[in-house]
Amino acid sequence: MTIGVLALQGSVAEHIKMIKSVNKKIDAVAVKTVDELAAVDALIIPGGESTTLRRLLNEFNLLIPIKERILAGMPVWGTCAGLILLANRVEGEYPCLSVLDVDVKRNAYGRHSESFVGEGDFDGMYINMVFIRAPFITRVGDNVTVLAECNDRPVAVRQGNVLATVFHPEMTRDNRVHKYFCGMIDAKV
Ligand code: GLN
Repeated sequence: MTIGVLALQGSVAEHIKMIKSVNKKIDAVAVKTVDELAAVDALIIPGGESTTLRRLLNEFNLLIPIKERILAGMPVWGTCAGLILLANRVEGEYPCLSVLDVDVKRNAYGRHSESFVGEGDFDGMYINMVFIRAPFITRVGDNVTVLAECNDRPVAVRQGNVLATVFHPEMTRDNRVHKYFCGMIDAKV
């Protein structure tokens, strides 16, 4: 089984390292082309800057192929900027992939200097959560499950094969959220 990490911008190496630490049988590779996308069983869209990622997705002709794979059931996980790209609605902007029924507001936790580490329960596991210029999830659709909250706000959500976290598990030493994502693929293959 191979998990791809979209490698246009953002925390790519960190995700690859984490996935490789979960299980020797699961490989993780960088994805930059349509052919590389076709070769993976699941995809992580990392954090970074969603406006830049969106532009690069178009430039590399990856937007439609990724959307088609997600709609066909490929497990996908967006962290922070990745969540913004997956969301159905982004305050003040056009949505990008529109495969997750949530509304988001970019940079709502404040500036880079206001980045922080929170903590909370993620699907029964107590974890640290790293927030870096993170968005708020301001609405959650009926078909979306909230997997984690922090300071009374939803910070991890799932809609079928789509997982999204406001925070960055790849910036910690705890690989349990990566393990959870691997479980979403196991359940499929
Ligand atoms: N602030 C970024 C954006 O709006 C997201 C930051 C992140 O991914 N850590 O795109």
